[in-house]
Amino acid sequence: MTEYETHEHDVLVIGAGGAGLRAAIEALAQGASVGVVCKSLLGKAHTVMAEGGIAAAMANLDRADDWRSHFRDTMKGGKFLNNWRMAQLHAQEAPDRVRELEQWGALFDRTPEGDILQRAFGGHSFRRLCHVGDRTGLEMIRTLQDRGVQMGFHVYMECAVTQLLRDGDRVCGAFGYWREQGRFVVFKAKAVVLATGGIGKAWRITSNSWECTGDGMALAYDAGAELQDMEFVQFHPTGMVWPPGVQGILVTEAVRGEGGVLRNRLGERFMERYDPEQVDLSTRDVVARAIYTEVREGRGTEHGGAFLDISHKPPEYVKRKLPGMYHQFLELADVDITKGPMEVGPTCHYMMGGVRVDAETASSTVPGLFAAGEVAAGLHGANRLGGNSLSDLVVFGRRAGLAAASHANRAGAGSPGTAQLEEAAREMLVFFERPEGESPYAIQRDLEGTMHDLVGIFRNKEDLERGLEKLRELEERAEGVRVEGSRLFNPGWHLARDLKSMLTVSEAVARSALAREESRGAHSRTDFPKTDPEWGRRNIVVARAEDGMRLSERPLPEPPAELKALLGESREA
Ligand SMILES: Cc1cc2nc3c(=O)[nH]c(=O)nc-3n(C[C@H](O)[C@H](O)[C@H](O)COP(=O)(O)OP(=O)(O)OC[C@H]3O[C@@H](n4cnc5c(N)ncnc54)[C@H](O)[C@@H]3O)c2cc1C
Repeated sequence: MTEYETHEHDVLVIGAGGAGLRAAIEALAQGASVGVVCKSLLGKAHTVMAEGGIAAAMANLDRADDWRSHFRDTMKGGKFLNNWRMAQLHAQEAPDRVRELEQWGALFDRTPEGDILQRAFGGHSFRRLCHVGDRTGLEMIRTLQDRGVQMGFHVYMECAVTQLLRDGDRVCGAFGYWREQGRFVVFKAKAVVLATGGIGKAWRITSNSWECTGDGMALAYDAGAELQDMEFVQFHPTGMVWPPGVQGILVTEAVRGEGGVLRNRLGERFMERYDPEQVDLSTRDVVARAIYTEVREGRGTEHGGAFLDISHKPPEYVKRKLPGMYHQFLELADVDITKGPMEVGPTCHYMMGGVRVDAETASSTVPGLFAAGEVAAGLHGANRLGGNSLSDLVVFGRRAGLAAASHANRAGAGSPGTAQLEEAAREMLVFFERPEGESPYAIQRDLEGTMHDLVGIFRNKEDLERGLEKLRELEERAEGVRVEGSRLFNPGWHLARDLKSMLTVSEAVARSALAREESRGAHSRTDFPKTDPEWGRRNIVVARAEDGMRLSERPLPEPPAELKALLGESREA
């Protein structure tokens, strides 16, 4: 029998982005022993890339703002497919979570009176995004990480989880490997919090970091949890389009928030045609489709995008408010954004779907398994508003940590049994044992192309069916992947495993997109261009069945009368 390096905690948090760190801090505060596992170094999680800010109705500039208007904007942005209770808790608790970050040392930009400064963002009716220039994620990670280390969580970095371990129907830990040395490691835990982020790396043009391979969603699915809203993938309207090596890198919405204007090749402010009310500050789904349409109809820029211009503002203002963007364009594209426009186009950015969770506790449908942050579904419905992810991370990260610690307090330690461990190890070793087989890189390239071309911004039945067919072929090819070399420092091996997650999640996205025969939020069907009120009453849920993936529809819970009244006439379906 193989001996595995083993660590034991009350609560195991998988992921060290904003959601994972906030969950870990809360579980620690409840007296639990907490382990945090992450694929990259502590401080390098994808959250560090967040730029524009964290949404919270603090009303520091616009006194009329309050949780009710934040709730309404979030529901309206999500085309009312959101879990209303999550949207309510999020809007109510976000200001406290921001104040708490400030108490823990986060240095937000300030108003002359000394309050936290807030900026405008697409779909928010008031200036609501607390920010640190355009480097808000960095400040958030730094703050949470310092707090967690000070409180004493154990961090296992550069360690990837490949399987959740179960005892009967409950989760009792995780199996993984050290990415540098390739050694296997077992984590035993009474409760597990998934905080593994999104799946953007399955698309060719993406703003997401290398970590975003959908691992948490696939791990949860394999462990028997339900996924929800998988058809809703957000394409951010403004990614870099030129030069090719930097395609997809995000151009923060803060550029538009600070007064940036979109124009097509003819110099027209085309957003006036697509959203006369909000124009450049329309929601991301609308702006992404508008740019895509302008390009398709021949009004795009030389490299297939639109112009985004902030050069009418004083150079010092641009450099102070958008220092990251200023340097990004200067260094990567040789463009001085204080003097001329940027070229931008849509990039895969955010996953609204994910693990189906309970609003109060962030618990999944599998006992002992919790999920928070981008890996979880519900809050954002059909489309996320900018700034609502960072607030999601701290609101529901905290709730997940609290509930996981309380679960751990009640649960005994489970045991995975040796067969499960041996099977998890075998799954990782098989790549080296095949005498011949395909490289994982070729399959990844074809997966990105398939998702980009057939499961992208605009979808239709024919493309989605072809996409599913291609995914089936890719799954077959992935079963024959061979990896060269040893387990030491082997990126090909990491990718071989990541492909499994990406393929599972991509299939869930394509199947759900095919099932939803309407257009809503980020999901645009050219063959069903209208929003259908009937579909507005249902979420699509994906679960694992004996014969593969099973889809079902679940009625969307109705908000209580007082919240319905808040939504008023804006409720369209
Ligand atoms: C460029 C950019 C700018 C953005 N700006 C904003 C913004 O201004 N405001 C806003 O609200 N949102 C913004 N977003 C979105 C937001 O940053 C993300 O949605 C959010 O940070 C996700 O946080 P998370 O904690 O859920 O996961 P992540 O930050 O993605 O962290 C995931 C963690 O899980 C770990 N992990 C993953 N798989 C495994 C595994 N198998 N084993 C072990 N560990 C694993 C990773 O190593 C990582 O530590 C932006 C996104 C991008 C790409």
